[in-house]
Amino acid sequence: MIADFHYLKPSSLKEALEMLSEHKEDCKVICGGQSLLILLRQGLIVTGHLLDIKRLDELSYVNFDEAEGLKIGATTTHRAIEKSGLINDKFRVLADMESKLATIQTRNWGTIGGNLAHADPAGDPAPVLISMGASVKVGSASGTRVISLDEFYTDLFETAMEEGELLLEIQVPKPPPRTGTVYEKFNLLASDQGIVAVAASVTLNGDSTCKRARIALGNSGPTVLRPKEAEELVVGQKLSDDLLEEVGQKASDGSDPVSDIHASEEYRRHLIKVLTKRMVKRAWEQAAT
Ligand SMILES: Cc1cc2nc3c(=O)[nH]c(=O)nc-3n(C[C@H](O)[C@H](O)[C@H](O)COP(=O)(O)OP(=O)(O)OC[C@H]3O[C@@H](n4cnc5c(N)ncnc54)[C@H](O)[C@@H]3O)c2cc1C
Repeated sequence: MIADFHYLKPSSLKEALEMLSEHKEDCKVICGGQSLLILLRQGLIVTGHLLDIKRLDELSYVNFDEAEGLKIGATTTHRAIEKSGLINDKFRVLADMESKLATIQTRNWGTIGGNLAHADPAGDPAPVLISMGASVKVGSASGTRVISLDEFYTDLFETAMEEGELLLEIQVPKPPPRTGTVYEKFNLLASDQGIVAVAASVTLNGDSTCKRARIALGNSGPTVLRPKEAEELVVGQKLSDDLLEEVGQKASDGSDPVSDIHASEEYRRHLIKVLTKRMVKRAWEQAAT
């Protein structure tokens, strides 16, 4: 049973930030409730105030600008991102990732902001967005700040957001020319989180050597991890089977997976290696076309 709380329903972002500021020591934000309600029902979270931002339409949008890139409001649902013509046209990897996140029912309620703020290392959007160099804008009653998503996750289910802050927007830079970005999760059940997941983004030079590589590992440690040694191996190189083998091994060595009822640490390390090889190859081939 959920413990009693005061339900707060702001009608504007300004009001939401004021309410959050007033009650920040004992207030939890709820948006789609797809993750939070489970924790409330289990009694793992007890709060005096529940601030419902689901209907803050000011934070529900998908915009694109050549200079500033893609901006997605925090209360935009997974389903809206999956179905956005703009995202399908310019950021296909995001639409593909969303189409495999949970079920349509969950995607209709769950939001991108809620997913990122929940900070589950097995969440699908974070690895893809980190591989694309995304940032998040957070704000409180006293102002806003932008945090690289790379630095947003501080520990398991922990973020760099402070009390009184809301996640407002996700910002994704326009990818440079000759860039390929791909993502795959390995899951036992369709419509579920991955046992592990890997995103890779590769940018090529004119001579088909690698200019830039970003790899992000999901459910491979307490937070989404970037195996920097694996990334560095790729830069300046041409694609080869030997290179992929080395990159996969480095990513696996740089991960920190757990053993649980779904898979052993050893099996996860094996999957990280296989998926990293596959994703770097696929991103490279996409960049070359
Ligand atoms: C059956 C099922 C299957 C699922 N499968 C997947 C899957 O395959 N992949 C995957 O990635 N996820 C999966 N999920 C998780 C879920 O879809 C996401 O975590 C969901 O998107 C969370 O968004 P929400 O709006 O529902 O957040 P809520 O549940 O409302 O909130 C989640 C957390 O974020 C905080 N929060 C919410 N919005 C904000 C904000 N704007 N600013 C600050 N804090 C905020 C809340 O306080 C809470 O701590 C699944 C969930 C279910 C129930």
